[in-house]
Amino acid sequence: MRIPLLAQPSSTEDPLIKNARAIHEKVIVLDSHIDFEPADLNSERNYTQRVKTQFNLPNMISGGLDALFFVIYVGQTRETQNPDALKAAGYERAYALAIEKFDAVRRFTGEIAHEKIELALTSDDVRRIYATGKKVALVGVENGYPLGEDIGRVKEFYDRSARYLSLTHNGHNQLADSHTGERDGWKWNGVSPLGKQVIAEMNHFGIMVDVSHASKASMMQTAALSKAPIIASHSAARALCDVSRNMDDEQLLALKKTGGVIQIVAYGGFVRTTKSDSPDRSAALAAARKEFNLPELTGPGQRARFQSTLKELSDQRRTEYETKLAEIDKQYPGDPAPNLKDFVDHVDYAVKLIGIDHVGISSDFDGGGGIAGWNDASETFNVTLELVRRGYTEEQIEKLWSGNLLRVMDEVQCAAQQLQK
Ligand SMILES: [Zn+2]
Repeated sequence: MRIPLLAQPSSTEDPLIKNARAIHEKVIVLDSHIDFEPADLNSERNYTQRVKTQFNLPNMISGGLDALFFVIYVGQTRETQNPDALKAAGYERAYALAIEKFDAVRRFTGEIAHEKIELALTSDDVRRIYATGKKVALVGVENGYPLGEDIGRVKEFYDRSARYLSLTHNGHNQLADSHTGERDGWKWNGVSPLGKQVIAEMNHFGIMVDVSHASKASMMQTAALSKAPIIASHSAARALCDVSRNMDDEQLLALKKTGGVIQIVAYGGFVRTTKSDSPDRSAALAAARKEFNLPELTGPGQRARFQSTLKELSDQRRTEYETKLAEIDKQYPGDPAPNLKDFVDHVDYAVKLIGIDHVGISSDFDGGGGIAGWNDASETFNVTLELVRRGYTEEQIEKLWSGNLLRVMDEVQCAAQQLQK
């Protein structure tokens, strides 16, 4: 549910809002992690329309978001789910899914919406496209699983437009251990021998190594191995929210040492852990979900599944569901959901620890991300406003929104050119 943070500005806030608007207009506002389904990027149904997704072009325009990384996400199949998950057949299934997504982005930016949005391959492209008034699309890969054991696919993915790639998602794969090992135990105790080759290959061709979803050991080894700065495309600070997906201080300092950047993520569960609901509240919420045929919320991937089911409800049913939730909140109040202020606390924390040059911003929209105050792309201005309220300058906000990540992209390209010599 939306909480309008901009409601009723006081007169003392007016100049501040004006200033924030001016800054938001002036800087390149880039979100480094947005998920999508190819079904939302075809000629009949796509992001030029107001599809019921957190990200789409109308939301992007009204929120003043200028650029995004579309994420080529392939979920990790575990060997317990499918014995050939980490064999040729499993890799081929993952590869086919990745290619379908690469192609969908090409089709959307090259044909369907080419007058509104364009694919960028370099930071110069980003600035050039932005200057024309078009929106900017970039591509990142979430999970190296579809690379299989074919090292040649690193260059293939680069040629297909990938500019960052995370070694893992949730669950270990052929390249590295995932953060999920804190619960399930380890496979490699960090990066696998093949994973080390993949890191070298990514350095060689100029793909940023993304350590979001990696285990701490995988992340620390990646920081030591990489010959170019590394990124966390969507993670937050573990000191403020103690979950395995976040990065502790030692990790943040190691990331800084590579010259890299952490893109703080607006994913509720990584921003603040909330107190568990009372039995009455849980029961009321479960009954409401049942009434509206919505899935359970606990378990891996359930939040994304829940949101996509919610999206399928008619507008009327959705409003009814929200009314029901408001009634439950009144009768059995729960711990309030994480909001924009909790999110910007992570930005503050990381900036204090590793400096303004190593922090950026990501939403994880349509992959479970979104918090009260920044729950879809149309609310992106609220982030800038909160940064201005906390005293960040235009120069600092420019770095947070895109300057740092584009600088890392350049440095990774530069390192690749050196390595290719
Ligand atoms: Zn993710």
